[in-house]
Amino acid sequence: MKYKLRAFFSGRNGIDDLGKALLWAALIVMVLSLLFGVMFLYSAALAVLCYVYIRALLRNVEKCRAQNEKYLSWRNLRKLRFRQRKTHKFYRCPQCKQQLRVPKGKGRICITCRSCGAHFERKT
Ligand SMILES: [Zn+2]
Repeated sequence: MKYKLRAFFSGRNGIDDLGKALLWAALIVMVLSLLFGVMFLYSAALAVLCYVYIRALLRNVEKCRAQNEKYLSWRNLRKLRFRQRKTHKFYRCPQCKQQLRVPKGKGRICITCRSCGAHFERKT
C-alpha cells in the first residue's frame, strides 16, 4: 500500500509555496464567508481548494514550477517593498512601466527613469 501511494505521488508537483498560499487564502475566505453568510465566496473558496489539489496532482511539473517561481518573485518583491516602506517610495514609470525606487522625505523631486530616460515629478 505504501509503495503504491509513493508510486502514485512520484513525478507529481505536490503542494508548493503557491499551493500553500492559495490554501491559506481559501481557508480564510471560507471562514469569513461562513461568519458573514456570503455563500458565493464559500463556493469560490471551494473552487480554489479544488484547483490547489488538482495542481498538486498534475504531472506537468515544469508548468507548476514556473508558476511557483513567478509567485515567489512577486512575494519577494512585496517583502522587499514592505521592508523599505519607511525609507523609500516606489513609482512606476509612466512611459515604460518600470518600477522605480526613490528615497522618501525629499519633497517634490524630478525622477528620471533609468531604462527609458523619461522625466516626471512626484512628491516623496
Ligand atoms: Zn521608463
